[in-house]
Amino acid sequence: KANKKPPLTGWFFAVSKWYNDVSIIYKTMQKKKKTILVTGGAGYIGSHTIAELILAGYDVVSVDNFSNSSAKTFTRLTKLTGKKVKNYPIDLCDYKKIKKTFPGKKFDGIIHFAAWKAVGESVEKPLAYYENNLGSLVGALHIAKLCHTNQFIFSSSCAVYDPKETPPYTEDSKCAPASPYGMTKFLGEMLLRDYTTNTPHFSSVSLRYFNPAGAHPTCIIGEEAKKKTENLVPIIIKAVKTKKPFTIFGKDYETNDGTCVRDYIHVSDVAKAHVAALAHVDSKEAAQYEVFNIGTGVGVTVQEMVRAFESVNTLKVPFVYGPRRAGDMAAVYANTKKAEKKLGWKPEYSLADIMKTAWEWGQMSAKNTRKK
Ligand code: NAD
Repeated sequence: KANKKPPLTGWFFAVSKWYNDVSIIYKTMQKKKKTILVTGGAGYIGSHTIAELILAGYDVVSVDNFSNSSAKTFTRLTKLTGKKVKNYPIDLCDYKKIKKTFPGKKFDGIIHFAAWKAVGESVEKPLAYYENNLGSLVGALHIAKLCHTNQFIFSSSCAVYDPKETPPYTEDSKCAPASPYGMTKFLGEMLLRDYTTNTPHFSSVSLRYFNPAGAHPTCIIGEEAKKKTENLVPIIIKAVKTKKPFTIFGKDYETNDGTCVRDYIHVSDVAKAHVAALAHVDSKEAAQYEVFNIGTGVGVTVQEMVRAFESVNTLKVPFVYGPRRAGDMAAVYANTKKAEKKLGWKPEYSLADIMKTAWEWGQMSAKNTRKK
């Protein structure tokens, strides 16, 4: 009896469901993918952010002059994401080239990583750092203007804070950079805030990273700088590989074991903070200009880092103690509540993940270099 129901009703439902499905697919295809310009896309944090942006459904274009990286990163990114990322190998301080290259192009957002980051080198060459780091920010803002881009994210650093402040640092802690590098980030923030408030429809965010470390979970990309690194994890890896002890500067600080405390955050967590920040600047809740700390909120001593590396990778790290290094602060770690609340972001990876991926990447990149 049930079969006697007029077949038309079943057909009607089938056809209307099909129409509904097709129109959803059609609408999705119509919705244009957003394109983000990443400056410094061949670099450490830039490349990890490109991977996360592609995963989140964005198209990505990069500008990188390879002053601290190489084009190999883009080959690796293609292997990782299945996508080819176009890079303009332009110096962002070359405004003539920018004004020739970018008119007519359209980007929905810009994430500006391109800068030099070595604190020690910045003390030796302050003018070169002011020129490159502030000049490249102005270059990136020229691109924003030429391409009618109204959303901008800037890589800042915990190096902007006054070393005399007591951690955990909030975004309202006093800023008084202790190095020319930190000063380029602080002045960069001021420049961006001023440009933002004087430019209708333009909004921006500065992200103050603490200590990014580790490599992508696939270990296809990782940190591969041309310049000498000052970051602890690559220094540990170098010491293990070369069997030459590295120096821990100072063991008489007022910390758990007398060595300095820092806030180490997995680079993929830092990368994901940019995807969250992009969604935030595009939302009604965003103020025109905002600052966020990007860290874990947990301080770890240098000696604890060494022990963590040893226990995760079952290896011995050679090190010696040396005197305190001028300009080093005893403890630096973040209060990350603002980013958690407003960006809906928080770190997912552990210290063990940092140590495991960093070591795996360290071995893979050595193999790749030997193959050439
Ligand atoms: P990175 O050196 O790996 O990447 C920066 C990239 O920018 C490099 O590929 C370099 O070739 C490029 N670049 C530099 N100047 C340029 C210019 N004038 N024109 C075009 N390209 C240029 O550094 P990273 O670790 O990926 O850092 C990215 C950003 O984050 C930097 O602004 C840095 O100051 C900031 N930051 C980094 C850390 C860290 O520990 N890695 C911590 C806090 C803040």
